[in-house]
Amino acid sequence: MATRKGHVFTREESSRGGKKGAAASPLTPEERMKGVWASVAKRQEMNPRPSHCVVCGVEMTTRYQYRHGTGRYGQMHQGKGKCKSCSDKEYKAWRKAQDPDREIRQHPPAACVMCGTPLRTRGQPKTEGTSLHRGHGLCNVCYQREERKARKILRLMGMM
Ligand SMILES: [Zn+2]
Ligand SMILES: [Zn+2]
Repeated sequence: MATRKGHVFTREESSRGGKKGAAASPLTPEERMKGVWASVAKRQEMNPRPSHCVVCGVEMTTRYQYRHGTGRYGQMHQGKGKCKSCSDKEYKAWRKAQDPDREIRQHPPAACVMCGTPLRTRGQPKTEGTSLHRGHGLCNVCYQREERKARKILRLMGMM
């Protein structure tokens, strides 16, 4: 008489019973998501998003609604009760306070500072006699020449 005691588990049976981590987390993915939503809802209840910006008072919409075009009115809520524009302003002021001497990008000069060729920017139409501004107020030709010089010096110094 064959008993269960002497039964040898087949590959299918052992994989069904012995799934890794199955015992440690009995929650299904749906149940897990419910837990996440509940904690998000609780957090919002404790710290509600104001309907108007706390700085400028403009009416705000949530990020999700703004991006998806549902209830798209006013400004987007960026965070901490502030609209995007106020948050951005604050961030720029903070950046400036961190490093007041930080170089701010300027419009390139009208002509190359080395050879005097009239410069144009990427957005401007291509016209005869102008050269594309490459960087640091230099035309493409001068930039490449200066770059070669710099490379040579750095190589001599053993830095490259
Ligand atoms: Zn604002
Ligand atoms: Zn030049």
